[in-house]
Amino acid sequence: MSDCLFCKIVAGEIPAKVVAESDTSLAFYDIAPEAPVHVLVVPKRHFDGVNDVADADRGVFDDLMALAREVATAEGVRDTGYRLVFNVGEQGGQTVSHLHVHVLGGRQMRWPSG
Ligand code: AMP
Repeated sequence: MSDCLFCKIVAGEIPAKVVAESDTSLAFYDIAPEAPVHVLVVPKRHFDGVNDVADADRGVFDDLMALAREVATAEGVRDTGYRLVFNVGEQGGQTVSHLHVHVLGGRQMRWPSG
């Protein structure tokens, strides 16, 4: 989508600090980190969010998880623990309408997250 922030990052039109990449997904540091490790993993293809992935495309979640786990290893939090977050819709706190999962770690996470 031409006016989507994360599509522009995927296209290299807006700079981001890329951490890892696969054929289908891109991982880059969040611009406003909430933890010492805060990386966003996004599909290269545009989906508005979790609710917008058709059954036929569910593999996109596998791809995101695989890259998120790679990020956790690269960032050194795989064994200490980390949190994966999908914010979904307005009340879920989603602010960017391009499917993404947050990889958060490097400190003790609190629950419930608020
Ligand atoms: P969400 O609130 O779940 O939609 O997450 C969107 C995330 O995108 C927020 O944590 C923002 O800090 C992050 N963000 C917004 N703009 C950028 C950007 N240009 N580069 C990296 N992260 C961004």
